[in-house]
Amino acid sequence: MTETYDDIRASVRALCADFPGEYWRRLDAERGYPEDFVRALTEAGFLAALIPEAYGGSGLGIAAAAAILEEIQKSGGNGAVCHAQMYIMGTVLRHGSDEQKQTYLPGIASGQLRLQAFGVTEPTSGTDTSRIRTQAVKDGETYVINGQKVWTSRAEHSDLMLLLARTTPRDQVAKPHDGLSVFLIDMRDAIGHGLTIRPIPAMINHHTTEIFFDDLRIPATSLVGEEGRGFRYILDGMNAERILIAAECVGDARWFIDRACDYARERTVFDRPIGRNQGIQFPIARAHAATEAADLMVARAAGLFDSGEPCGPEANMAKLLAADASWQAADMCLQTHGGFGFATEYDVERKFRETRLYQVAPISTNLILAYIAEHVLGLPRSY
Ligand SMILES: Cc1cc2nc3c(=O)[nH]c(=O)nc-3n(C[C@H](O)[C@H](O)[C@H](O)COP(=O)(O)OP(=O)(O)OC[C@H]3O[C@@H](n4cnc5c(N)ncnc54)[C@H](O)[C@@H]3O)c2cc1C
Repeated sequence: MTETYDDIRASVRALCADFPGEYWRRLDAERGYPEDFVRALTEAGFLAALIPEAYGGSGLGIAAAAAILEEIQKSGGNGAVCHAQMYIMGTVLRHGSDEQKQTYLPGIASGQLRLQAFGVTEPTSGTDTSRIRTQAVKDGETYVINGQKVWTSRAEHSDLMLLLARTTPRDQVAKPHDGLSVFLIDMRDAIGHGLTIRPIPAMINHHTTEIFFDDLRIPATSLVGEEGRGFRYILDGMNAERILIAAECVGDARWFIDRACDYARERTVFDRPIGRNQGIQFPIARAHAATEAADLMVARAAGLFDSGEPCGPEANMAKLLAADASWQAADMCLQTHGGFGFATEYDVERKFRETRLYQVAPISTNLILAYIAEHVLGLPRSY
């Protein structure tokens, strides 16, 4: 039997009840950051779920963290405003020095420090991370960084940033992904001294930005682990990210299904509730079945992850199935609401826009399919 974390779920639901649809709607319109929601989650300890107790966290596993994020989405909120605070620190935890862990993890656990910006994607390299151009060049006891990142979310609401940069040119390494390194950058020192953040206006209120590095000098002690092994380090964290985002998609799907059922029961047209028509019922039932199946894969991936077993295929399939289920549920929910689905006061159009992201980020559906084709089914590499 899989642990269901009923107590944690109930506490998250109670917290989220203080942040109803109007709250998220207003922020969406203003493009505001939900400071009080993030503060409440932090104070309740939910964002420190994955940090070991020795560093002030609760030392829970990924399945518990997944339950937290699922409940936030299911309440109608948006965990993407701070979900990365939960898992970016995993790279520091697994590969950082003792000094880095002692310096940063307790502050991240208490919420005094925010580490929720992760700079990988660049405008010219896209999904092909081996071609990133941001460079870190060692100069004595410092590294000098030049380049640009795009879609670095929450950078304006983060103290620290995890950065992937090239430390050895691509044509001088054995494999294309060698020669990349990870740095933990204190953005509070960097802004105005070679680091510039520019918000990207976007379809959703995601606080996403582009970041420019112009001779930014950082201490050499910012390097996480060994130089040149950064891509492997971030790959380690990707299964966790896939599982957690899949759980968010399951939460979104459940919110859409609940809303659609409520509306289908109440909305009366042609003298009967629309939910009596099978044309309305069946898409809801289909979305429910897809969501339950995706949830099983999330639980399986989380179970493997928490027992330290390899879980790449399961984490990727969980993300694929859950993102598809949430998008299917979103489309169904909008259709069930007819014209009112487009009215902001129902929150359906907001959640519809928000859940659409997961077909693209943090990894697009095509790239997951390519991974399954190549690594699970043994088909020839397609790119
Ligand atoms: C709101 C938002 C927030 C984000 N937050 C972050 C963040 O915090 N940090 C960060 O580093 N990145 C972030 N990203 C970036 C995100 O991870 C990328 O957008 C995503 O990985 C896709 O990369 P790309 O946009 O460069 O698409 P591209 O790589 O240019 O691809 C474009 C399309 O082509 C398809 N494609 C490309 N190559 C292939 C192939 N070989 N086979 C089949 N299809 C292919 C892709 O699936 C995609 O649909 C965010 C993006 C968004 C939109």
